Amino acid sequence: MQGQRVAVVGGSIAGCAAARALVRAGAGEVVVFERARGRLQDRGVGLAIQNERYAELEAAGYLDAAMPWVQLTRRPWVVRSGDARAGRGIAALPFPYRSYNWGSLWQELHRRLPDAVDYRSGAAVTQVLPEPDGARIILPDGREERFDLVVGADGYRSVVRAAMLPAAASAARYGGYVAWRGTLSARQLPEPGSAFAAPDATTVVFPGGHMIAYRIPGSIGEPQVNWVFYATPPAEATSALADPVIPPSRALTEAMTGYQHELVERHFPGYWRDLVLGTPKDATLLQPIYDMAAPHYARGRLVLLGDAAAIARPHTGSGALKALQDATVLGRALGAAGSLAEGLAAYDAERAPVGRAILELGRSLGRAHVQQTPDWAAMDQRAFDGWWHANGGSGVGGRPLGPSDAAAPAGTRRPAALDATEQA
Ligand SMILES: Cc1cc2nc3c(=O)[nH]c(=O)nc-3n(C[C@H](O)[C@H](O)[C@H](O)COP(=O)(O)OP(=O)(O)OC[C@H]3O[C@@H](n4cnc5c(N)ncnc54)[C@H](O)[C@@H]3O)c2cc1C
Repeated sequence: MQGQRVAVVGGSIAGCAAARALVRAGAGEVVVFERARGRLQDRGVGLAIQNERYAELEAAGYLDAAMPWVQLTRRPWVVRSGDARAGRGIAALPFPYRSYNWGSLWQELHRRLPDAVDYRSGAAVTQVLPEPDGARIILPDGREERFDLVVGADGYRSVVRAAMLPAAASAARYGGYVAWRGTLSARQLPEPGSAFAAPDATTVVFPGGHMIAYRIPGSIGEPQVNWVFYATPPAEATSALADPVIPPSRALTEAMTGYQHELVERHFPGYWRDLVLGTPKDATLLQPIYDMAAPHYARGRLVLLGDAAAIARPHTGSGALKALQDATVLGRALGAAGSLAEGLAAYDAERAPVGRAILELGRSLGRAHVQQTPDWAAMDQRAFDGWWHANGGSGVGGRPLGPSDAAAPAGTRRPAALDATEQA
């Protein structure tokens, strides 16, 4: 990159990983503009990264074993059955995933930023103006700064994407249903240990939705339980959600909470009902399901990654993973190319198709798991396996990194540029 000056707009998971990738690729100066003041750890809840995808990212130097995680191994699928407190298992899948606490993962990525990165909190970018050999960014007080490259890691309402592509080509679309997310301390579980083994990611299914629950690292060392509950709320409760300018919110309305609790009372086995109803109200949030995939990830001197480039529905198990993979490939492409244009074209060619594939996978999974659910109670393992594969289940957990990132054995691909400063 011959010492170029780069702006990263957004300092969340994608932004932190991109800043690191750019320093490695040889950028002379990297400035991260993050709109939020202070820390971002309350933004999300739990996430899971498949073991093999983790190994690739560890080998590439973006994740490491010192970042707190919980090993999961099995995904039982459960329906309500008479008075059986834990419900009845209809099937089980292997679940070789590491689970993370979104907040602690962000903190660890932020802490590992190379010294060369200038991370500015409370620094919103209001507009990006492309130029032939760079771009200007406009700050809220009207000041401008010029960069050779501007990286959009600014999430689902990206100003970088707005400068790069017509709105109609890349608008986030409401998927027609929502996710309620909650966390509680593992100590608050009903009858600790009895129905919910530590390495399980249990999925409770019902007509029109499901919930997945698994343990994640807690912020003070004690494990927490993370659950994500999907269903389609009544149209009158969600009419505003069709407009993606409505931000996801911790401020759940009484009506939305009431609707979820009604479903839980009607469809959940007792143990899982108590788990959801026992979750503190201030530890739940609502995530309307949007999706989008930008047709191009790079144009001129602007480039997109993470949710700014494509929003993956959570069923795909690839939101944070995709952001980390995008950064890995961007760093590799820019580091290896003879020119910025060549590196950006290589990144676009490799990652834009992945974003589109994840978009389609998310829609297929959404239909099968929420909008057109099967007769779960009638399924046995064999019927379940057929349903899972027919609806894209084997794509859950994300795709392998490209050959140049994934082929080398773990530990051998730390680029030479990863020096002592970077490991701070
Ligand atoms: C409510 C909600 C909850 C979620 N919970 C989970 C979860 O529990 N588990 C999970 O796996 N995934 C979760 N996700 C998705 C996950 O956060 C992302 O897929 C992942 O973090 C990658 O995101 P990103 O860094 O690309 O974008 P984001 O995490 O959205 O970050 C974008 C960043 O850009 C900043 N920004 C935006 N505009 C500007 C601007 N103009 N100027 C400067 N800064 C700007 C924002 O403040 C933000 O920090 C959640 C998403 C939402 C919306």
